[in-house]
Amino acid sequence: MSSVTYDFMSKYVPIVADHFAPMNATTARNTMYGGIALDNLNWLERLWASYYIWMGNPVLATGLMSFMVHEVIYFGRAIPWLIVDAIPYFRKWKLQPGKTVSNEQILKCAKIVLLTHFTCEFPLIYAFHPVCAYFGMATYEVPFSSPLLMAAQIAFFFVFEDTFHYWAHRGLHWGPFYKHIHKLHHEFSAPIGLAAEYAHPLEVLILAQGTISGPFLYCLFRKDLHIFTVYIWVTLRLFQAVDAHSGYDFPWSLRHWLPFWAGADHHDFHHQAFTNCYSTSFRWWDYMLGTDNKYHAFRNRVKNASAKDKAAVEKREIDRIEAEGIRAERLAAAGGGQGGMEGVKRGKLE
Ligand SMILES: [Zn+2]
Ligand SMILES: [Zn+2]
Repeated sequence: MSSVTYDFMSKYVPIVADHFAPMNATTARNTMYGGIALDNLNWLERLWASYYIWMGNPVLATGLMSFMVHEVIYFGRAIPWLIVDAIPYFRKWKLQPGKTVSNEQILKCAKIVLLTHFTCEFPLIYAFHPVCAYFGMATYEVPFSSPLLMAAQIAFFFVFEDTFHYWAHRGLHWGPFYKHIHKLHHEFSAPIGLAAEYAHPLEVLILAQGTISGPFLYCLFRKDLHIFTVYIWVTLRLFQAVDAHSGYDFPWSLRHWLPFWAGADHHDFHHQAFTNCYSTSFRWWDYMLGTDNKYHAFRNRVKNASAKDKAAVEKREIDRIEAEGIRAERLAAAGGGQGGMEGVKRGKLE
C-alpha cells in the first residue's frame, strides 16, 4: 500500500512525495526498532510495530492511522444510533420523542461532516507526525505506557477538554460568532449522534483544540505520552460527543452512575433550549456558573408533577422552552443578544 501511495504522489505531487520516500522492511525495522526484541512484547505492541514496518514511512503511517481512527470511531459510533432511532421500541427513552429527523437531513448531515473531515483533517495527515515528534510524543515506539499512566493522562485530558469547551462554546454563542459560525450546529434542535461534528469548519477547528491541545500541553511538562494513549482518549471523547447528541437517555446511561457526567440528557437540552448546558463531559462548570438553571427548572417541574399531570406538564414545558429557544436563537442569529455570554445567576429559576 505504501509504495502504491508513493507512486501516486510521485506522479502528481513530486514535491510532497520526496517527504514520503518509503523504506524497505529491513531498513524500517532497523531504523525504528533496532535493538528492541519485538517478540517479547504483547500482541498489540507487535501489531503496532508491524504496521509501521509495513508502511515503511512513519510520517504517513501516523497521519493515516490518526485520520482513520477518527473516521472509523465517529461513524462506527454514530451509525448504530441511526438504527436505534429507527426502532420504535426505543422511543420511550427519546428525550424529545415528538421530533423526527428526515432522510434528507441525515444525508445532508453526513455530507457536511465528511466534507469537513476531508478538507480540514485530511491535509493534517502530513503535519501530525512531525508535530507529535516536536512535542516529544512517542508514535512508532513500543512498548506502550502502563495502564495506570494511561488512565491518569486520559483523566487530565477529559478535565482539560471540558473546561476548554465550556468557555469556547459560550464564546460561540455570542451574537456575531453565533451568526457566522455556531448557527450551523444548532440546525438540529433535537440532535442525532451523526450531528456531533455537524458544524462550521472553523467551529470544528476551534473546538478540536480542546481535544488535541491537552495531549500537546501535557507533553510540554512530561515526555511520557504515547500516541496510542491519545487514540484511546480520542475514542472515548468521540463516544462522549456522539452519545451526547444521540437524543436518548436510558436508565443505564452513564450519567445515572456518575452524577457529574453530562450525557445526552444535558446536551440535548442545550440544543432544545438553545441556552444552558455548555460543557461536554461534565456538569460542574454549568453548575458552578449557574448556566444550568433552566435545565434544572425544567427537569424539576416535570419530576414534581403528579402522575396524572406529568404528560401535560412535560408537553407544556417543552413547548415553552422551545418558544424561548427560538426567540433567543433568532436574536443571536441576527448578530445581537448576549447569547452564552450573559450572566446567569443561580437561583433565578423562571
Ligand atoms: Zn451551542
Ligand atoms: Zn451539540
